[in-house]
Amino acid sequence: MHIDIITVLPALLDSFLTHSILQRAQDKGLVELVIHNLRDYSVNKHRTVDDYAYGGGAGMVLMIEPVVNCIESLQQHRQYQEIIYMSPDGRQLNQPIANQLSLLQNLIILCGHYKGIDERLRAHFITREISIGDYVLSGGELPAAVLADAVIRLIPGVLSNESSALSDSFQDGLVAPPVYTRPADFRGLKVPPVLLSGHEREIEKWRFEQAVKRTEERRPRKNTE
Ligand code: SAH
Repeated sequence: MHIDIITVLPALLDSFLTHSILQRAQDKGLVELVIHNLRDYSVNKHRTVDDYAYGGGAGMVLMIEPVVNCIESLQQHRQYQEIIYMSPDGRQLNQPIANQLSLLQNLIILCGHYKGIDERLRAHFITREISIGDYVLSGGELPAAVLADAVIRLIPGVLSNESSALSDSFQDGLVAPPVYTRPADFRGLKVPPVLLSGHEREIEKWRFEQAVKRTEERRPRKNTE
């Protein structure tokens, strides 16, 4: 999978993408992540990428030209299945959306900034808008990193234990059951005995029951949908 991220603040993404699972996925050649500085596609010598909003009001708007220049230059090398704009009013990210995106080959993720981006970009160049929740952040970099992480960890081979992404919360419509590790007794706080029993079938049954119970408690609507 190849992901291009367009941003005015590349430094914000650098450290995130060069650590842990995302770095390993790149080292293994399972994903290529490239960060593009929108200023490199500015059309003036001051490398400006934003301007005042028509009609007035506070806050700057990302201009259409640099973004289209960047997208079109990327499209000369690849065909993209989705050009995603991170936006608080987009469709809210969830596990099914992450699953779906993890099957694609080439993605562009555009991070907004300031007041947002020129509406003509959204109407004519963006193919999908994704939000990470009903709250407003200062830029699309953290949302883009959240999306990239959620998608990349699903690519087969990225997680060391391949089945582990499948047993995560939401993959089967259920949240994950509780997990424990050593010691089996911490100041009298004990691990449920079934987990120490070695009975695989009993353990599976217990985990499933716990997942159902947790889902009913924590995501009651999801369970009845
Ligand atoms: N004025 C806009 C908010 C702009 S916030 C509005 O009210 O909708 C600046 C940028 O941060 C946005 O362009 C978007 O790319 C990003 N952003 C902020 N909150 C986000 C969220 N919850 N999900 C995804 N992107 C978000």
